[in-house]
Amino acid sequence: MCPHYNVLTDAEWARLTADKAAAHGRNATCLCESAPGHPGPHLAPAQSYGNRDTWIRRVDGVREPVDLAHCLAAGIPADDLADDPEPCHLFDGHPGSHSFDPGAAPVHPTRG
Ligand SMILES: [Zn+2]
Ligand SMILES: [Zn+2]
Repeated sequence: MCPHYNVLTDAEWARLTADKAAAHGRNATCLCESAPGHPGPHLAPAQSYGNRDTWIRRVDGVREPVDLAHCLAAGIPADDLADDPEPCHLFDGHPGSHSFDPGAAPVHPTRG
């Protein structure tokens, strides 16, 4: 896992929970979900609102919330997805492999 993380300010958190659909409580830190040494900006999940997620994007020292669509784990055999409506908890177009277990390091979607 990438070692980057964000600590949200009260003002940032207030914005993330202004929408009543906000699903998550406040985390002390928002961890970047990408692999170590990943290309592109750091992106950490911050809040979910049903059909969209807000991520904290950090690039060149600037932090901002961005709304990103769910990754639908395209390319993964349906048999490996069970009936999970949100098969991969990362955002659409994320780098690296899909991640199936929130809070865990991304895993390769293979089964032995
Ligand atoms: Zn990162
Ligand atoms: Zn994915």
